[in-house]
Amino acid sequence: MPSEKSVYLPDKALSKNAYVSSFAEYKEMHNKSIDNPEEFWGDIASQFYWETPFKYDKFFRYNFDVRKGPIYTKWFDGATTNICYNVLDRNIRNGHGDKIAFYWEGNHPDDYSRLTYKNLLVEVCKFANVLKSKGVKKGDRVAVYMPMILEAVITLLACARIGAVHSIVFAGFSADSFSERISDCEAKVLVTADGVWRGEKFLGLKTICDQAMDKCARNGHNVECCIVVSHLCRVTTPNRIPNQNKKINMKEGRDIWWQDIVPNASSSCYPEWVQAEDPLFMLYTSGSTGKPKGVLHTTGGYMVYAATTFKYVFDYKPNDVYWCTADIGWITGHTYVVYGPLANAATSILYEGTPFYPDNDRFWVIVEKYKVNQFYTAPTAIRALMKFDSDLVKRHNLSSLKVLGSVGEPINPEAWMWYYKLVGSEKCSIVDTFWQTETGGHVLTPLPGAIPMKPGAASTPFFGVQPVLLDESGKEIEGEGEGYLVFPRPWPGIMRTLFNNHERYETTYFSKFPGYYCTGDGARRDSDGYLWVTGRVDDMLNVSGHLMSTSEVESVLTEHYGIAEAAVVAKPHPIKGECLYCFVTTTEAVVFDGKLLAELKQHVRERIGPFAQPDVIHNAPALPKTRSGKIMRRILRKVAINDRDVGDISTLAETNVVEQLFANRPATA
Ligand code: ATP
Ligand code: MG
Repeated sequence: MPSEKSVYLPDKALSKNAYVSSFAEYKEMHNKSIDNPEEFWGDIASQFYWETPFKYDKFFRYNFDVRKGPIYTKWFDGATTNICYNVLDRNIRNGHGDKIAFYWEGNHPDDYSRLTYKNLLVEVCKFANVLKSKGVKKGDRVAVYMPMILEAVITLLACARIGAVHSIVFAGFSADSFSERISDCEAKVLVTADGVWRGEKFLGLKTICDQAMDKCARNGHNVECCIVVSHLCRVTTPNRIPNQNKKINMKEGRDIWWQDIVPNASSSCYPEWVQAEDPLFMLYTSGSTGKPKGVLHTTGGYMVYAATTFKYVFDYKPNDVYWCTADIGWITGHTYVVYGPLANAATSILYEGTPFYPDNDRFWVIVEKYKVNQFYTAPTAIRALMKFDSDLVKRHNLSSLKVLGSVGEPINPEAWMWYYKLVGSEKCSIVDTFWQTETGGHVLTPLPGAIPMKPGAASTPFFGVQPVLLDESGKEIEGEGEGYLVFPRPWPGIMRTLFNNHERYETTYFSKFPGYYCTGDGARRDSDGYLWVTGRVDDMLNVSGHLMSTSEVESVLTEHYGIAEAAVVAKPHPIKGECLYCFVTTTEAVVFDGKLLAELKQHVRERIGPFAQPDVIHNAPALPKTRSGKIMRRILRKVAINDRDVGDISTLAETNVVEQLFANRPATA
């Protein structure tokens, strides 16, 4: 298996044509972004349209030190602009009007459509006028609960056009979780669809919205208007039986069909010029570690940062076709399905379904169909697809691919190699992008043409980002070492506050180490200066004084051919302080038995050391995951100690997984 020493060079042709072609060139640009941010970001920002230009004396200001007063970050303060204008009108003026903005690919392979930049602008203006007619004004919140359909993109841009703040909640959250979020952001209008098919599973979105709005009303918050896209009538169902029996309740005076009002609205809508520091959207974090936080992003800095990271990290060239599989309900969907690609006049794919429908090769079918050049997905999807016969990948022509992205969790080297070899034919660059809802865009990532890759390393900071590692006492670690990943200064896309809760913002991110934004993740710097994200600091293991990260042990477990996925947590131990409790999901072909157990223990001993030998290995046919696919280790810690008080599980994808785990705790646990 690859180790810290294994280095994979970017493909020569890719490197030669890339925006950034060598490590030296990257270094020079990065230095400039840190030493002279006004010049670096000023040049980029000048390519956008500003109604009131930004001024260099108020370029950016910030305070990250709670001892010196309130925390704040401001970029381009005093300038005015509109992000919708910049991603649509500006591109159309520059000659991209007839370019495809999105290819829409439905859950069923028979369903697909497309939208050019010009057509997208028309649809956005119409819907913006509808929102205005419903009383939505600048600063008002619009809740969005939508599947991956073009109207979702249209809704976001329509909000941005009139200065309203969108608050998307992933369409998969329960009515309870959704209602909490609607109330928390005090949404005036809600936009949804009647329902959606994901694979063979039907989701009645409007029914969930009804329950959520009822609950909001009982708590004193009334959503004034709910706009519903009639989507089911236009899609092919898995069994080809029409969707006509899915009855939708429409409440008089509150609910209205999209198709009844949007087509008749005017197709011109003058953009609202907003302050660079006016809010653009709010979005709740995934909830992996606790109660979700309502992260708020503003306009100018986010726009510039989303555009710049997209361009350089995916090395997007004008005729490329780009596909990010993330749902629009997550930050990845915001920055790298909507704003980043559109700001670069990119052509993207918007996919409604799952990787597994109608077959387990649907991702590769789509890559082949549209000749995708950049493909961006999550380790959880890669690991799920690795379980199947490799022929599912090999039988497709994936030669268009140039850059493969990964986001959401540390990618274990085993999955990295599979992605690199099988999907990328050893000629694609892999960009392991580390970032958070809070950071707005990538903060650590290799650049595809410039940075030699190490499997599992997020590698290098993006422009404007200055990573620092701190030890427990807050001292900066120079050179090699492992510690808390923090940032002493802001880049344009960093969050500005938590909605209606600036105090929680200051305590969550800035109180532990005054002067730094604290990610909550740990990282290691190797002898080449590469950064390796080791996972959340709360997930560290301390066995008899040996400090280990969960991702380290998990990577070693998944090296075994029989293990598809692993999650490791610490369990209190009377002698060792903590011991390793490992959850493993076996691959399709392998049975969980004594032989496998012995092999796994031996393997961990050999690869890490005898002190790391797992005390418990728990056969877990499925792991508890957030709806964005991340393993929720805080729940696993509860299973390990057999404590059923598992806390907030509103963001859990499948709740029965937890019950299953409690039920099959091994006798040794
Ligand atoms: P919550 O903050 O509510 O617990 P969350 O942190 O999972 O949820 P996100 O903002 O979606 O919500 O995820 C950011 C986190 O995902 C990072 O802090 C990090 O732990 C993890 N992560 C994302 N990308 C990577 C990556 N490439 N390598 C390692 N970890 C990653
Ligand atoms: Mg987080």
